[in-house]
Amino acid sequence: MSNLEQTLSIIKPDAVERNLENEIKEIFKNNGFLIVKEKKIQIEKSEAEKFYKVHETKPFYSDLCAYLSSGPIVVMVLEKENSVLANRELMGATNPKEAKEGTIRKRYGISIDKNSVHGSDSVENAKIEIDFFFKD
Ligand code: UDP
Ligand code: MG
Repeated sequence: MSNLEQTLSIIKPDAVERNLENEIKEIFKNNGFLIVKEKKIQIEKSEAEKFYKVHETKPFYSDLCAYLSSGPIVVMVLEKENSVLANRELMGATNPKEAKEGTIRKRYGISIDKNSVHGSDSVENAKIEIDFFFKD
């Protein structure tokens, strides 16, 4: 059964700053993802706080939101069969030190906070996150 899904991907400030945008997009395309929407933006800390609200009780929340709003990011809607899980696998573990060979975070991530990419963690959250950045 076909299960075409969309997921939200963000190329985070550490990767945009190192000019990795095109390389990372090529990795997605080479792995069968279609980039159906994309924009390069910089968000306010208050917007990052809304985006990462699920983490508001975590000790790293404030730094995380300051970081995501610290420079330009590339926000993309990716489409592929089972794209939510496929993107999580391609990204690798949150901590680049624990990410498997061949994953984006293993290759480009600097640290657990500067881990180069974001990806939705469920189909439900993908819808919420896509709406967050691309509504109307
Ligand atoms: N993060 C962090 N310190 C931690 C855990 C997470 O700075 O101890 C950051 C990291 O950039 C991560 C983001 O918070 O990508 C969101 O955390 P989550 O657990 O949702 O990881 P992800 O879904 O991005 O793998
Ligand atoms: Mg997450």
